[in-house]
Amino acid sequence: MLPNDVVRYLQQLRPAPDPDIAEMERYAREHRVPIMDPVSMEVLLFVLKTARPRRILEIGTAIGYSAIRMAKALPEARIVTIERDRERYERARFYIGKTNTGRQIEAVFGDALAVGADVAAVAPFDALFIDAAKGQYERFFTLYEPLLAEGGLIISDNVLFKGLVAAEAPGGNKRLWNIAKKIRRYNEWLMARNDYDTVIIPVGDGLAISKKRGERE
Ligand code: SAM
Repeated sequence: MLPNDVVRYLQQLRPAPDPDIAEMERYAREHRVPIMDPVSMEVLLFVLKTARPRRILEIGTAIGYSAIRMAKALPEARIVTIERDRERYERARFYIGKTNTGRQIEAVFGDALAVGADVAAVAPFDALFIDAAKGQYERFFTLYEPLLAEGGLIISDNVLFKGLVAAEAPGGNKRLWNIAKKIRRYNEWLMARNDYDTVIIPVGDGLAISKKRGERE
């Protein structure tokens, strides 16, 4: 992972966010809502702008920060995003309205492991962004990958989980250690899939980018 001074350097290099985005970042800080780290966000947007997905599925809306950033960066894209926490979902709807991104973003309330049938109506997706319960990544991946178009991207956040995936022995916190072990298993499973090309980028909390291979690859 990058040293803190390098992270600070990269953060201050990014263009100042617009007032709505800055307000969401402030809200997330004040209410302790986990949203994507700003430097990972820039990497994700760069990858998506290059791939130009028309339909994106996000698992884990929180307050809508990453969905709104994707919508603003990709004005032609349609984004379906799923959140199971009622208060965060309502807050996301509020910000989607405030930023006039409702034409692009459809927020779905529910557990991503249970709402698959509703979401399938919008498929195929050109990109799937997994940013929800860290112990469930493999289940999210296998549940939603049939909805992915050939050549589509699956992006998983937090795959280095505070660096704990590389720790040899449990530290003081058993809960975090258990999550780290699950993410480690996910990373191994993901890297072993030969129907996807995957790279793990050590930015923010670790971003895995997987591209589904086409028939001829
Ligand atoms: N992607 C958001 C962003 O960067 O703005 C941050 C998402 S936050 C890290 C993870 C969210 O996933 C939480 O709000 C949590 O309630 C939600 N979540 C966790 N497991 C879920 C599940 N099985 N179905 C739907 N939402 C889930």
